[in-house]
Amino acid sequence: MRRKIVAGNWKMNLSFTDAEDLINDLLDTLDEEKPTAEVIICPPYPYLELATDYMEENLFKIGAQNISSFDAGAYTGEVSASMLKSMDVTHCIIGHSERRKYFNEDDKMLTAKVNQALAHQLTPIFCVGESLPEREAGKDKEVVRRQVRHGLFHLDTVEFARIIIAYEPVWAIGTGMTATPEQAKDMHAYIRTLIAERYDEKVAEETMILYGGSCNSENATDLFSQEGIDGGLIGGASLKVDEFISICKQASAK
Ligand code: PEP
Repeated sequence: MRRKIVAGNWKMNLSFTDAEDLINDLLDTLDEEKPTAEVIICPPYPYLELATDYMEENLFKIGAQNISSFDAGAYTGEVSASMLKSMDVTHCIIGHSERRKYFNEDDKMLTAKVNQALAHQLTPIFCVGESLPEREAGKDKEVVRRQVRHGLFHLDTVEFARIIIAYEPVWAIGTGMTATPEQAKDMHAYIRTLIAERYDEKVAEETMILYGGSCNSENATDLFSQEGIDGGLIGGASLKVDEFISICKQASAK
């Protein structure tokens, strides 16, 4: 069953103390406001334990921002899916455009990461999205089709049902240039068409697809009220309690 989800991607921000303060503020406000949308926070690795310590409160779930494509062993600097699972992390962002761009994560590596996450019972939040030149050249759908197909379509129906997709146009991430509700709705519908072709209508209808890219308290309702948009992956605005909670409430209202 589809539901509303708001996931906060903290990226490489905040000191340990700032992270602790943000988690405490989030807990207090979530406890007060009790949004019905599912809330996931994705802090940097060193702060994951801090976040999972507060999990007992059950007000939010915890996601990692990345995982290794390898299972275990001599891979210095890597963090495996099984390590994350062992510390109560439930979700993992995979294929964020910043990882694709700055760390050369290609389709093959992302497929391996998706497989690792699923093998260790983590829910992948799989990001796809086109760059501005690609959109301007009319190639936005072609790019998203390739990313979805290569990253996810090797999965069987049962595995695919465990995936959350995030449509994040690269030109909208951190730029203040949010996609219009129509642009987001159109791409979400297109992704569902691809899923229906590969699997079936029921699977397409049940897949959770989030929007990400300069989503904030000013535009969240317009985006989340579009058919087929199941919530958001939030970057910058997830670092400000009031903004993030407002977005969670707007998602809950839809
Ligand atoms: C993101 O990094 O996933 C993102 C959506 O960032 P922002 O909200 O800052 O555009």
